Amino acid sequence: MINLVLFGPPGAGKGTQAERIVEKYNLHHISTGDVFRANISAETELGKLAKSYMDQGQLVPDEVTIKMLISEVDKNPEAAGFIFDGFPRTKPQAAALDEILESKGTSISSMLALDVEEDELKDRLKKRAEVSGRADDADPEVIQKRIDVYKKETAPVKDFYSEQGKFTSINGMGSIDEITNRLFEALDKLS
Ligand code: AMP
Repeated sequence: MINLVLFGPPGAGKGTQAERIVEKYNLHHISTGDVFRANISAETELGKLAKSYMDQGQLVPDEVTIKMLISEVDKNPEAAGFIFDGFPRTKPQAAALDEILESKGTSISSMLALDVEEDELKDRLKKRAEVSGRADDADPEVIQKRIDVYKKETAPVKDFYSEQGKFTSINGMGSIDEITNRLFEALDKLS
């Protein structure tokens, strides 16, 4: 069973690459951002709460996010493995993920972290804003906030996996196909 954390700053291409990995390796994809956006569309209480943070480029509080993640994992008992996209974004989330997987007799196999230069991130997010309809992509101030939050709160999660010998950095610059090939190469070493 492969359980993968696909990691990287906003605009690194996690969602795009996750779709390709899912196709080839038959993993169940959980994107916490997508789950929050589905809740916003459905106007649930969780959606209302998440929106108030997302619109500001802030993280949704750990307690809420972890609870949602557990429910997503529990909904898919037949999964051959998971790809976590956009989670964990804090060390407490990483610790919670270890606990959840341990309770199911499994663990994270690897964190693959996409490394992308900041100017390139901003370019990609600007282009994505034209098609995504995401409020948090449309506002340069919110984009900057998300990048700052990533650096301060999320980047340290790399150390969590590094200490477990599970961290792999992937060059996230270049074409989508080039990056996919680098990820597949890293994944083939795991299986
Ligand atoms: P994403 O789609 O991964 O770019 O996430 C969009 C927004 O959803 C983020 O800027 C956060 O506000 C929120 N979000 C997604 N995943 C998490 C998480 N693991 N922890 C806290 N907030 C999250």
